[in-house]
Amino acid sequence: MGKKHKPVHTRCRRCGRRSFHLQKGVCAACGFGRTRRIYRYSWKNKKVQGLRLR
Ligand SMILES: [Zn+2]
Repeated sequence: MGKKHKPVHTRCRRCGRRSFHLQKGVCAACGFGRTRRIYRYSWKNKKVQGLRLR
């Protein structure tokens, strides 16, 4: 260990949160990369910002 410099998550293009997993290519918060729909549960409603589904 000791090589944990890289951020696992980066800014998500869709929800704007820093939850986009770089290796998986999936956002943990909104499910970007995993699903085309916004992926969210009521129990993790921490104000999903920038809800723009075109
Ligand atoms: Zn997202």
